[in-house]
Amino acid sequence: MIDELAELKSQVESCQKCKLCKTRKNPVFGEGSENAKIMLIGLGPGYHENREGRPFIGAAGKFLNKLLALAGLKREHVYITNIMKCYLPTNKATDDEIKTCTPYLDKQIEIIKPKRLLLLGNVATKYLLTKFRLQLAPIGQLHGKPFSISTLFFQTQIIPMYHPAAALRNPGLKDVVKNDWKNLAVVR
Ligand code: URA
Repeated sequence: MIDELAELKSQVESCQKCKLCKTRKNPVFGEGSENAKIMLIGLGPGYHENREGRPFIGAAGKFLNKLLALAGLKREHVYITNIMKCYLPTNKATDDEIKTCTPYLDKQIEIIKPKRLLLLGNVATKYLLTKFRLQLAPIGQLHGKPFSISTLFFQTQIIPMYHPAAALRNPGLKDVVKNDWKNLAVVR
């Protein structure tokens, strides 16, 4: 299993399937325990993540660490990755770029088989709800609500969450976001 993940990581490191490979410094594959029962999925690397090759290490990442603590979790307990593996200079990905990059995420989910997927923000929520044929709604309605998924290969629960950066941009959301994380019962 671990070898499969390492093999996938090396594919991402040499990926040239879209133009984002030209502006990336380090692809951000994801990090955390391969045995994690919880996977967090954000949008994509920002400036700091691109420099270091690690997910969520800038301002949103620092806030994420606090949110994890509210749920009784540490980064070591979870696997953190993104929809997009390469730096997003405008913090946006096109539909084509998402389509090109998400087979890597699909494979990560298949290998790690997390019991819970926390979808950080609109893009991750839209991608995963659509993938599992669930009805989309604005994140304001979906945040903190679990959906059970059962496929031929595994069972999981997906929970749309506000992106930590949303609460940094809109401090009025901070308490809502913190409450969502406090309410997550811990699964390890
Ligand atoms: N925002 C994301 O969605 N992902 C990161 O890795 C960092 C910031």
